[in-house]
Amino acid sequence: MLRSVEVTTVLALPSSSHNLHWRGRLELSLDCFICQRTGRTTSFEVGADRAVCSGDDKFDQHYSAARIAAFDHSEERDQTGLRAVVDYWWAPFHDAKRNEPGAALTRAPWVRLHLGYYCPETEKAGEFDTQTNVVRPSSGSCRHCSTPLMVSRDVPQLRLLAGR
Ligand SMILES: [Zn+2]
Ligand SMILES: [Zn+2]
Repeated sequence: MLRSVEVTTVLALPSSSHNLHWRGRLELSLDCFICQRTGRTTSFEVGADRAVCSGDDKFDQHYSAARIAAFDHSEERDQTGLRAVVDYWWAPFHDAKRNEPGAALTRAPWVRLHLGYYCPETEKAGEFDTQTNVVRPSSGSCRHCSTPLMVSRDVPQLRLLAGR
C-alpha cells in the first residue's frame, strides 16, 4: 500500500546574514516491512527514487521503496517553513523482536531535517540539523562566528495523508 507522510516545521531566523537554507535530505522513522522492524531510521534525498532503511543488527541497511514526493519551503523575513511529503510502500507485518505490529505511521514518528549556511565573516560554509527529539526551544549558531542563526520553538509535525 502506498502511504504518504507530511512533515512540516517552522524555524525563527534571528539573523538573515548567513543565507540559511534547507538541504534536500532528511531522516524519518518508518515501520519497515522488508526487514520487519518498527521505527527504522530511513534516509531520504530529494530527487532519489529510493530511500535507505538502516536495518537492524541482523538485517543490514537496504534500499526501500520510498521517496520524497514534495519538498517546499517558504521564506519570510524572520522565519522559514518547510513542508515535505514522503511516499513509501508499506505492508502489514509483525516485529518479532519488539512483539508489536508494524503501522502505516510508526508509533512515535521522528524526523531530522538539515540546513546549510554560509558565513560572510569567515567565508566558510556550515550546516546543522533540527529534529523531533530535542529540548525546545532549540537554537543553532554559526560555528565560525557564533551568530545565532535559527530557533526551533515547536516540534516538527508529522501526519499520515489520507487517500494519496
Ligand atoms: Zn528495513
Ligand atoms: Zn558566521
